Amino acid sequence: MILVTGGTGYIGSHTCIELSRAGFEVVVLDSLANSSSDVVGRLEQLTGKPTVFYEGDVRDEALLAKIFAEREVTGVIHFAGLKSLSDSLRDPLAYYSSNVAGTVAVLKAMQVAGCRTFIFSSSATVYGAFQAMPVNEDSVCAPITAYGRTKFHVEQMLSDLQASDPAWGIVSLRYFNPVGAHESGLIGERPLGTPANLVPYLAQVAAGERSALKIYGRDYETRDGTGVRDYVHVVDLAKGHVAALQHLARSRGHLVVNLGTGRGTSVLEMVNAFERASNKKIACEFTDRRSGDVDVCVADVSRARDLLGWSAEHDVDRMCIDAWRWQSMIDA
Ligand code: NAD
Ligand code: UDP
Repeated sequence: MILVTGGTGYIGSHTCIELSRAGFEVVVLDSLANSSSDVVGRLEQLTGKPTVFYEGDVRDEALLAKIFAEREVTGVIHFAGLKSLSDSLRDPLAYYSSNVAGTVAVLKAMQVAGCRTFIFSSSATVYGAFQAMPVNEDSVCAPITAYGRTKFHVEQMLSDLQASDPAWGIVSLRYFNPVGAHESGLIGERPLGTPANLVPYLAQVAAGERSALKIYGRDYETRDGTGVRDYVHVVDLAKGHVAALQHLARSRGHLVVNLGTGRGTSVLEMVNAFERASNKKIACEFTDRRSGDVDVCVADVSRARDLLGWSAEHDVDRMCIDAWRWQSMIDA
């Protein structure tokens, strides 16, 4: 059985579906700090199986001990944590507590239970600025936010842990820009308040809930002056976790892997793709650069292909079509 922390969240819920499709049994632990219990029922609908769900915090050591005592957990995929770059600068202790102390609690419970297979949700934000693109996993990391540093600290902790006990098999997955939703329209990303990310914002402009997209900067060193990112469909990303788990069935160590498409898309290209998907005109206004943004961030995806046998399949049109279907379902 695979323990999925943060399994009712955006990426976790899609991963539960792909794990189930691949024949894994799943147990979910989530505090519902940033997700809804409705997702549990949606997962049951989509997988056709009951979802084993524990509501609680990953820092609750007694709860972790209970889960490991009650379930035969053979591996953990650890999504639970906080993810806003800007909030992490306002309240770093909340981020270190949830993301670093939370991971320590999960690893300690695993150690006691004798479970040594762990997949960690890391992020391309660990690279920071000034990297040659596409960026590969051996580049020197220099995260520029507290959030990015929590991810990098955990990666380093995982290397130390694996070095102390070679029985551990660990994969840290550095996600690029996860977007889109499940094709059923039943699960997707549900941002609270004003979306900070491009695609949920575009979806709300297309739905008429916001008047215009503010494009942060038009003077970047890119083909049209707007920022370029490596958007990856959340279902492809979910499949990357299954591939990582299958890798850990045949090898130990701590492997760090980028999950992206290797292709960059500018903000304006994304606006065009969303207009095609929604058949709506999206009003845009240019504003100043957002602090901390880089010109280009695109993954070198050769390691994922060579070592995990994984490559993303969906293009940005498909990402926008699925994001728009999800937006239309939540508004219905
Ligand atoms: P999300 O907020 O939708 O999911 C995280 C889930 O964890 C939520 O359901 C939340 O309720 C739960 N959670 C938070 N703190 C918890 C705690 N202390 N104990 C138990 N549950 C807790 O976020 P997501 O987009 O699905 O991201 C999943 C992981 O991937 C996070 O670790 C995030 O940092 C990482 N990541 C996300 C992105 C992205 O753009 N979405 C990019 C790179 C990395
Ligand atoms: N972006 C934008 N307007 C928005 C949100 C994002 O112009 O309302 C741009 C942002 O500057 C970046 C790209 O869209 O170039 C992707 O931003 P997002 O926040 O989705 O992801 P990240 O910054 O984590 O790469």
